[in-house]
Amino acid sequence: MTSLDDLPVRADLRGKTPYGAPQKTVPVALNVNENTHQIPEAVAHDIVQSLVVAVLGVNRYPDREFAVLREALADYLNRDLVGDQRLTAANVWAANGSNEVLQQVLQAFGGPGRSLLSFEPTYSMYPLLADGTGTGWIAEGRDEDFELSPDTAASAVRRHDPDLVFLCSPNNPTGTPLSLETIEAVYDATRGMVVVDEAYAEFAPDGTRSALTLLPGRGRLLVSRTMSKAFAFAGVRLGYLAAAPAVTDALRLVRLPYHLSALTQAAATAALRHSDEMLAMVDDIRVQRDRIVMRLTELGYRPYRTESNFVLFGGVRDPHAVFTALLERGILVRDLAIDGCLRVSAGTEAETTAFLDALAELDSTA
Ligand SMILES: *Cc1c(COP(=O)(O)O)cnc(C)c1O
Repeated sequence: MTSLDDLPVRADLRGKTPYGAPQKTVPVALNVNENTHQIPEAVAHDIVQSLVVAVLGVNRYPDREFAVLREALADYLNRDLVGDQRLTAANVWAANGSNEVLQQVLQAFGGPGRSLLSFEPTYSMYPLLADGTGTGWIAEGRDEDFELSPDTAASAVRRHDPDLVFLCSPNNPTGTPLSLETIEAVYDATRGMVVVDEAYAEFAPDGTRSALTLLPGRGRLLVSRTMSKAFAFAGVRLGYLAAAPAVTDALRLVRLPYHLSALTQAAATAALRHSDEMLAMVDDIRVQRDRIVMRLTELGYRPYRTESNFVLFGGVRDPHAVFTALLERGILVRDLAIDGCLRVSAGTEAETTAFLDALAELDSTA
């Protein structure tokens, strides 16, 4: 039998490990920051209607420019934008998850001989996407409590002069929000492309300004979003970004033709018609998140500042043991190998209660 090591795999991929968050069937899965609420059934039926129409047309390739979907995404983003911040379809790009969007960005602006800088701990896919595209990976650190000040960020960028900088806001896996001042400082410090990954933007407090408001006049700034988290649409695979129209021109050079299937386009466009219903659970998820923070503090743990739908908490003596003990009780959280820390997603009220009660019980038996 041939093993991976016997194959003529690219030398720079030898010894690497693929993305591998455990996918286990458990009663309470709080490990990959999904929205654990089902989408409303009425919305599901409307999506199915759109899918029927799309399926009847699948003898033809889908719209390569996904014009209707881009229009719908621009409208969605414009709900929070005013004046010259407002976007048109020409500013918007989409792909099969924001992971594919980010991969296309690296294919177009990174690659062999080029580098991507980010600030760890951060989203574990960034170094994997760098590896896959042959882009050099530069990991810099953060300030106390995983914060990232304008000075820390900009001086790292000046030191390394990377071709791309990825800023995750709020940051996964720590939940830490990122100030617009830090984004501006990074942008001013680099000649490269700056990507702000706002996968969790909808979970920030009402009135929080998105990096989208910084786009006017900044041709090297990209803001990526996803329907996977707040929108409860992870299974469909739809991520997107907003940037200057020239950026989408660059991405057309590397995307596969017809990369967004007719079914994906139809489902996402239909869901966007129901944005308010799709986002109805965001408030409840924020309540559950704040409840986790309060209860963990009572239990003597140290939750970090979070504006996302998950909480990273320290003060765990043996993270692996706690992870295993929770799993034995049917509750899956995330052990990210950050010293003394575990991460948990805010679930439904019942799921959140199950997690908090199990943890409290472990505590008293420890
Ligand atoms: C979950 C997540 C994404 C979303 O990925 P999709 O491919 O859109 O599902 C992107 N960035 C970060 C930081 C995430 O945590």
